[in-house]
Amino acid sequence: MTDSGLIIVYYGNGKGKTTAALGIALRAIGYDHNVCMIQFIKGEWDYGELYSSNKLKPNFELIVTGKGFVGIIDDDHPIDEHIQSSKNAIKIAKEKISSNKYNTIILDEINYAIKLNLIAENEVIGMLESKPTELNIIMTGNYLSKKILDLADLVTEMKEVKHPYKKGIRAKKGIDF
Ligand code: ATP
Ligand code: MG
Repeated sequence: MTDSGLIIVYYGNGKGKTTAALGIALRAIGYDHNVCMIQFIKGEWDYGELYSSNKLKPNFELIVTGKGFVGIIDDDHPIDEHIQSSKNAIKIAKEKISSNKYNTIILDEINYAIKLNLIAENEVIGMLESKPTELNIIMTGNYLSKKILDLADLVTEMKEVKHPYKKGIRAKKGIDF
């Protein structure tokens, strides 16, 4: 019997969704598994993982498609641009999923892109349903649709209990980015 891959979802208002996905990546790369992370939405900021991907070559590939935060902070992109870059992210995700090159694919912030209607939920469902059997897919972002909950094998809610941001402590290098 082939070993079925898992559909894993990290959502919720607490910190740790992307870092949990990266934690699995680190673990998997130890066994020479190939991991690809595609970032939806985020894009124009600096993240440690951008540089880690170079150090973890050839097992870790990071693809940035987004245009940064949508509608908040310093978002100066029209919504059409966000929709376009999400469409591009989905296109890349489909290619990567069907490439059979990876053991695990991380779709970072895809849940949030669904919530914002930047991508169609049905398109994501179709993509998950047609994934190669052994492939693991990890989805992050603070939203959980009922259909994705039903499809997923592992769902964890990151629930904020304390966050340094509430005390006015800004995002830290190596912890938050
Ligand atoms: P991380 O990438 O650190 O694992 P995350 O994926 O759970 O965080 P995102 O929504 O992607 O959460 O947020 C990314 C950034 O926002 C991080 O710098 C993180 O510390 C910060 N953040 C996450 N949750 C909260 C929160 N509840 N309040 C304020 N900032 C938060
Ligand atoms: Mg995140």
